[in-house]
Amino acid sequence: MSEITPIGFVCPKCKRPLRSVNNALFCKECDRTYPIADGIPDFLSQASLAPSTLHIAKTMDFVAPIYESRFFISVLTKLSGVSGGLRLFDRIASFHSETLKGITGSVLDVACGPATYSRRLASPSRNVYGIDVSMGVLRQGMTYVVRDGVLGVYLARSRVEELPFENAVFDGGICSGSLHLFPDTVLSLREIARTMKPGAPLSVQTFVAGTTLINRFVQKRSWLHIFELSKLQQYLMEAGFEEFQPKLEGIVLTFSARKSIR
Ligand SMILES: [Zn+2]
Repeated sequence: MSEITPIGFVCPKCKRPLRSVNNALFCKECDRTYPIADGIPDFLSQASLAPSTLHIAKTMDFVAPIYESRFFISVLTKLSGVSGGLRLFDRIASFHSETLKGITGSVLDVACGPATYSRRLASPSRNVYGIDVSMGVLRQGMTYVVRDGVLGVYLARSRVEELPFENAVFDGGICSGSLHLFPDTVLSLREIARTMKPGAPLSVQTFVAGTTLINRFVQKRSWLHIFELSKLQQYLMEAGFEEFQPKLEGIVLTFSARKSIR
């Protein structure tokens, strides 16, 4: 049993509390009903997604069953240009663990996929709230959570630009392999910052410019971002973060930052 009281989802539009009605969440203010499927609230059932976001959601729906397979992870590790024994996901997981060391309470996992890191980071003293645009990966994640009896993982389908959480509820946040996919980086980071407590750490993994296959793929798509470190630091500051600490290997950038104390 988790020792932490779960935080409730709020309406992503008006940020007011929701009422449970017939396996759905209802916002009286907006007169909107958000269905819950397989224990996963769907805040995007009535939303129109940007074409690029829709494309990502469909791709992830397709990839969901093999996302955590040894084969898929090996391919990703190779394409990312990281060397050494540890596979990409293990490296990212250890970076997140290190950044969130000592953090208890509630942690946000933006673009959580099949709860790959949420499951590892959840503990009796730490609940993790994963959001993603793909119902396919969320369902897959919920299957793993149930299979392994992981406690303290909550999943919801939501966009990063409209998170279904109140202001300043999270003690930490993570985001893996997705920051470069968000159409508006500052807007996305600002919304993440809104939900985090002052001083809370953010742990991110994304990609930077390079010559690997992934980069060549990325460079052909104008809606994907390839970050320059100085630009990224500027985005973070604009969005309300400080203490940017990047770490680069191959084209894999991991960095930590902290929600500004204001
Ligand atoms: Zn509402």
